[in-house]
Amino acid sequence: MQTAPPETVVIERSVAQGPLAARLRRSLPGARFELVDQLPPDAAGDPSVLGLVRFRGRFLRSCPGTRHYHCCGYQIVHFGTQCSLGCTYCILQAYFQNQGLRLFGNIEDLFEELARTLDARRDCLFRIGSGEFTDSLLLDPWTGFSEWLVPFFADRPNAVLELKTKTTHIDNLERLDHRGHTLVAWSLNAAPVRAREESRGASLAERLEAARRVQSWGYPLAFHFDPMIDIPDWQRHYGEVLERLFQAVDPARVVWISLGAFRFMPELKEMIQARYPRSLIAYGEFVRGLDGKMRYFRDIRVEFYRFMADSIARVDPGIRVYLCMESDDVWRDALGFSPTERGGLPALLDSAVQTRLGVGRDCRRSAVDGAAGELGVA
Ligand code: SF4
Repeated sequence: MQTAPPETVVIERSVAQGPLAARLRRSLPGARFELVDQLPPDAAGDPSVLGLVRFRGRFLRSCPGTRHYHCCGYQIVHFGTQCSLGCTYCILQAYFQNQGLRLFGNIEDLFEELARTLDARRDCLFRIGSGEFTDSLLLDPWTGFSEWLVPFFADRPNAVLELKTKTTHIDNLERLDHRGHTLVAWSLNAAPVRAREESRGASLAERLEAARRVQSWGYPLAFHFDPMIDIPDWQRHYGEVLERLFQAVDPARVVWISLGAFRFMPELKEMIQARYPRSLIAYGEFVRGLDGKMRYFRDIRVEFYRFMADSIARVDPGIRVYLCMESDDVWRDALGFSPTERGGLPALLDSAVQTRLGVGRDCRRSAVDGAAGELGVA
């Protein structure tokens, strides 16, 4: 499955001569290209239109998070915003409202900032993802952005990149010299959730086949069950996904699996109901968490996590299972320990990178101490 290519590309003049603009012109010969001085920040969202703009902020940043729950200490390489896959629960609809798809055309600035930051802190291990403000691979067939990113990280002794996706846009990865510094990650969900709440993403079979292929090219893997949804017979459905996952890939190549129960800012509920009348996710019973977000009752969350963690551990106890934005109490009840007892969640994930991938063994600490990783969208 491949999503439709953009039909129109609107390019700001200041990035029109850059490598990303050149690549798009080559890969989209049938598209209409328009030049503008500046794309208005609130340019309306037509998924067939791609904006290529100059980004003037920081490309590398910690996820916006909360001090109330354990965060994974992840950093985001910010290369674009919005996504056309239209998952009903996607937080980007609240963040970017009706804004269209846009990418940052000044990628030379992005790589200069990345290199400067990573070189300045060689004693720190950076776990960096690109799938927070858009899907990491959504536009990759046309941008070829992975062909810049993956070799860049291959050369960095203190960093790994995670490309997180719900697509099968992996072809550009095949011939890249990644040296085990890029994890390719898929978000997975129970079949009824996939069908109803993320119907424009690839099917489970397609995602797993893509994972099998990138594994055959030597890439390490990661998976995210987030958001887990409280559907009837959830154990059977989520158990089936795990079974199919471990039939498709070698568990020893899986570095981490994250688990996160559905949670949302209260204002997202009305958006979901208005945009996706068939969606059922906003109709469960929720309580407001310390971060102001609505979430399932604690018992439900603990049951989700315990079931998943036990099932994964039976296959391979070496896979690092972690919870997204949960407290020490929930960790202890679900997994039998809390990150605090073991040096913090960033340290647990660093150690997974160091032991499974052999990357960053000389790094003494995580690049982000206790900072957050919450969007978790792709
Ligand atoms: S959740 Fe991820 S894949 Fe789905 S619409 Fe949002 S960014 Fe795209």
